[in-house]
Amino acid sequence: MRLLVVEDDPDLNRQLVSALQEAGYVVDKAMNGEEGHFLGDTEPYDAVVLDLGLPEMDGVTVLEKWRRAGRNMPVLILTARDRWSDKVAGFDAGADDYVAKPFFMEEVLARLRALLRRSTGHATSEFECGPLRVDTRTSRVTVNGRAIKLTSLEYRLIEYLIHHQGRIISRTELVEHLYDQDFDRDSNTIEVFVGRLRRKLGKDMIETVRGLGYRLAAPEDEA
Ligand code: CA
Repeated sequence: MRLLVVEDDPDLNRQLVSALQEAGYVVDKAMNGEEGHFLGDTEPYDAVVLDLGLPEMDGVTVLEKWRRAGRNMPVLILTARDRWSDKVAGFDAGADDYVAKPFFMEEVLARLRALLRRSTGHATSEFECGPLRVDTRTSRVTVNGRAIKLTSLEYRLIEYLIHHQGRIISRTELVEHLYDQDFDRDSNTIEVFVGRLRRKLGKDMIETVRGLGYRLAAPEDEA
């Protein structure tokens, strides 16, 4: 899952980015509204953390412009405490949720997990597909109850696939959602990681759909 953090306070921006990275997400960051708007307009993020008080372009304007352009990724806004009018303006502009400053990082993480799963049509943070279970709160992955050790990129890959299980995902889409902006992207490496995941999870979990991409499906669903 690839996220964008738009926050002009350098300390807070750094704290958010490192907490999100630690939670297994790939994160791009922007320090002002204009840069944030540009990134959200041109890159496919799974969710955005957007401060409302931003230089260059304020957060409400950024959000309005995204929504008008049809950018519908989930957006969590950061608001000043006691500014109820900010929350109203944010929701009216298209925000999905908010956290008031100062906040506990755990709350931001929990709200993001909720936004990510709801945006892909899931009600809980624990995902199941046949024998495979992925708990997105703890990043724990099991197959038939047996814990599987994954690298961070392998985890990101299986997390993305299980949020979108049943759907065919192209290699390009995976590259866009598993790597940050600055990464030297090579879609051939995806194949390598899919191969490793198949060895760890069982070779039938991830189906290759020739010419189109990959699909995560419970083996018994395939008949
Ligand atoms: Ca600010």
